[in-house]
Amino acid sequence: MEVCRHHHDEVPKFMNQIKFLEPTTFAEASALLVEHGDEAKVIAGGVSVTLMLQQKLIAPSVLVSLGRIGGGDFIRRESDGLHIGALAILHDLERSQSVREFCPSLAHAFSVVGNVRVRNQATLGGNLSAADYAADPPAMLTALGAHIQALGPDGTREIALDEFFLGFYTTALQPTEVLTEIIVPAWPRASYQKFLSLSAEGRPCLAVGVAADFDSGNECKDLRIAVGAAVETPQRVTEAEAMARGSILTDELVAAIAEEYSQRLDPLTDVRGSAWYRREMIRVFVKRALDEVRNGNR
Ligand SMILES: Cc1cc2nc3c(=O)[nH]c(=O)nc-3n(C[C@H](O)[C@H](O)[C@H](O)COP(=O)(O)OP(=O)(O)OC[C@H]3O[C@@H](n4cnc5c(N)ncnc54)[C@H](O)[C@@H]3O)c2cc1C
Repeated sequence: MEVCRHHHDEVPKFMNQIKFLEPTTFAEASALLVEHGDEAKVIAGGVSVTLMLQQKLIAPSVLVSLGRIGGGDFIRRESDGLHIGALAILHDLERSQSVREFCPSLAHAFSVVGNVRVRNQATLGGNLSAADYAADPPAMLTALGAHIQALGPDGTREIALDEFFLGFYTTALQPTEVLTEIIVPAWPRASYQKFLSLSAEGRPCLAVGVAADFDSGNECKDLRIAVGAAVETPQRVTEAEAMARGSILTDELVAAIAEEYSQRLDPLTDVRGSAWYRREMIRVFVKRALDEVRNGNR
């Protein structure tokens, strides 16, 4: 059982003016968000939130900390897939035997986030809710067809990750909802490719997640490819995925799918690379991920 290690015993000075509330259940957290409205901000591991506070990008008068909610960091295999509590921290997830057995590529995607100090503090719920485009887990989990559970004043609802990321730093969560759980379906094969253009501990220039299923004759039964970090939200090109279904992934077909992804997506330009460069890299890394899954990578 993973242990919750993100208590906020030492509150930084700039937070002295902020009321720090510590509910012990998700329902209580949501009720506090209802009570305090626009004044409140959820804080989980605090990796993004403390930076936003420091840079004065946000100025909440109330922080609703999820750090004292018990049992919110579980990792559990169930019949419909792997269930991960929103408070599970990335470092525990990358090392978890359950995650590694369930999907080694998913464990890999967690292990390449930033650096060990970040992963020791960051929760998966926080990583997804932050909806930072330059991230790793969102692309991999979108490829795997994961969905999340959100708890709000009207109860619980499920949101597919395909519909969760709405834009830069924006998700489908209501301001009064908290993300409580991530559910990941099982896939026989998968691959995660992080492309870094700056430092080895940096955020991705490009993130490619692939999930695939093949029949005994090695014909592709199902394929999902999600590209993140180079675009605003993780994106799939369903027409290109469909090209694989019912076919053997030959060199030509892999190249054609990679080309479709490269042409159809509209990459952005930032410090990690230009749109032109990213388009080139999408072709390279979609091909690399497809090569891995056709060779049996999990
Ligand atoms: C130096 C550095 C390098 C990094 N490199 C990478 C990288 O390579 N790849 C990558 O993927 N990420 C990277 N990150 C981002 C990091 O992974 C995220 O900041 C972290 O995962 C956020 O999780 P947290 O638990 O700290 O969330 P917090 O900072 O506590 O919260 C983040 C956001 O989510 C909201 N929130 C948190 N939990 C919930 C919840 N359960 N329900 C609803 N809303 C919630 C908060 O209100 C806030 O808006 C990096 C960050 C830093 C500082």
